[in-house]
Amino acid sequence: MGMLPALAAAGGACAVGGTLSWGAVAPSSQLFGPTIRRTGDASAIALTFDDGPNPAVTPALLALLERYNAKATFFLIGRHVRAFPALAKEIAARGHVIGNHTETHPRLAFLPPAKIADELSRCDDAIAAATGKKSRWMRPPFGFRGPQLGSVVRKRGSASVVMWSVWARDWKPQPPEPVIQRLRRVSGGDIVLLHDGDHRVLEGDRRHTVAALEHWLPRWKDAGLRFVTLDEIE
Ligand SMILES: [Zn+2]
Repeated sequence: MGMLPALAAAGGACAVGGTLSWGAVAPSSQLFGPTIRRTGDASAIALTFDDGPNPAVTPALLALLERYNAKATFFLIGRHVRAFPALAKEIAARGHVIGNHTETHPRLAFLPPAKIADELSRCDDAIAAATGKKSRWMRPPFGFRGPQLGSVVRKRGSASVVMWSVWARDWKPQPPEPVIQRLRRVSGGDIVLLHDGDHRVLEGDRRHTVAALEHWLPRWKDAGLRFVTLDEIE
């Protein structure tokens, strides 16, 4: 006696916890508000780069993208923009689209709405000061969304939430080969999550990402795929 209700309560709590975790992390989940995760065009892929700008990697990446006339979307961290405003400006000047990736890269699922709004506003301010542009897109750090994110985004009336359909798992230093292998999954319509920065440090090592793209950009192009920004997929 007494055990059964306790077990039932624990089971119920687990089920709810499981649902919330899944909704917070799964890129396909629409549980916490609408998100964009595909280009909607079977001939177009959207390359997206998170956690920059990063002077150790972004300039080489920009040169590589230019070689293939590929435009991409960069989800910048506010404090990295403040550290390297000229590089943020350069990304925009080359025709790429800038997205908001918060000021300090916290796990938004655990923050109250006012704190989330503050993270987004400070990043917006940094992007506007560096590039003169207002971002229309945001990506939650780690892909973590809570029930409060959708209402904060709606209330601010600005950036739409962008997730992804393929990730490169390129967020720690590694040889290019595993990243190249993971990107074999990319096909028309995908939004691809890549990293040119590291949210923990200002000049993280992401050479594997550039090397993997050196491998794939010509192949994707030969396969007839176009590279689109978020601005082009509405
Ligand atoms: Zn990130």
